[in-house]
Amino acid sequence: MRVVKLISCLLAVLAGAAAQPRPARPPQNKRIVIAVSRVFDGKGGILRDTRIVIEGSKIVAIDPKAGPVDYDLRGLTVLPGWIDAHVHLGWFFKDGKLAGTDASPADKTYGAASNAWVMLMAGFTTVQSVGSPADIPLRDAIAKGSFPGPRILTSAEPLAGRGEQTGTPDEIRAFVRKQREAGADLIKIYASGGMRTGGMTLSPEQLSAACDEAKKLGLRTLVHAFREAVRAATVAGCTEIEHGLGATDEDLKLMAERGTYFDPQGGLLIETYLLNADKYAGTPFFPKTAVGFASMKDILPMMHDLMQRAAKTPGLKTVFGTDAVAGAHGHNAEEFIDRVRDGGVDPLAAMVSANSLGAEALGMADQIGSIAPGLQADIIALDGDPLKDITAVKHVVFVMKGGVVYKNVGASH
Ligand SMILES: [Zn+2]
Repeated sequence: MRVVKLISCLLAVLAGAAAQPRPARPPQNKRIVIAVSRVFDGKGGILRDTRIVIEGSKIVAIDPKAGPVDYDLRGLTVLPGWIDAHVHLGWFFKDGKLAGTDASPADKTYGAASNAWVMLMAGFTTVQSVGSPADIPLRDAIAKGSFPGPRILTSAEPLAGRGEQTGTPDEIRAFVRKQREAGADLIKIYASGGMRTGGMTLSPEQLSAACDEAKKLGLRTLVHAFREAVRAATVAGCTEIEHGLGATDEDLKLMAERGTYFDPQGGLLIETYLLNADKYAGTPFFPKTAVGFASMKDILPMMHDLMQRAAKTPGLKTVFGTDAVAGAHGHNAEEFIDRVRDGGVDPLAAMVSANSLGAEALGMADQIGSIAPGLQADIIALDGDPLKDITAVKHVVFVMKGGVVYKNVGASH
């Protein structure tokens, strides 16, 4: 009796396991055909009534006559998996509070891994995590196929500007080389203090040294910058400016002229803090009580104004980055709603900012961000049309990354 029970339990477990998405690599030559009726190609084009053919991890053809059909996604909006240029995988809540540096290694590992998982389920097939060396083993585990999650790019240890204490330009160059040796895909630089006040935390010489050394090593630079630091980072030849509150129209114009990527936020970050004020209250760098968070609301109109001005700046390459912290993981797509509803961003441009333009900013436009032969089969489907109703971005019903289907729950109506 016991044995029978044990075996039936085991079978149930095995059956359950088989029904779960498997993080394995796709069989080399496995061919998959997806029928689609509306596809955003990732570059601003829309394809209709065709089929996407995948072999192994890549798209090999767009062919309306291909068959047999393995997945029928007609009636849905199909597009390339989204790219979030700015997340923090290592932030998570534990027992109702933001976990601190004293959290156990196991909690930190599971915290980051589950953040990665929920973002993949929300349609993000590539994310750039900026600011933790712990991202490296998770990036590598996901890349090997031993754990399901988005493709991760990471900065390892960021360069935190502390004025003269940051070091001489030569010391800063050595720090950049050290991150490269540690396996960084890019260099993250903090060149300003807070959102509302504070000057630059790196001199123009220090900033130039960091961005120049990274460039020599073939690495991109992402600079956390407000006010005058926006122009300084642009002039220093850094790759991408994060946040940017306090940037003038002239600063935005200069970024467009220099081809500097810009990643302002439209509201998700602040909405997350407000919604989770009790969990953040009293933790380092946050107000002591939930009430102290009220004044953060004043930042939202500043974000909306900056997003509106960025959208109106001709040629400015604005990418999609959420700055996802604890409470925002898996909700990343809500930032699209802020950008379109409050930031005056065209819905199709918002999609492109997280597809081909996002891929270009990562130097990966030949691999991800578009639906075209030769590219990775990173394909998602939304129940709804975000061009008619941007809230459709919350209804991700299909997720494929590198030819592996991780989610396929069908339309809800
Ligand atoms: Zn950040």
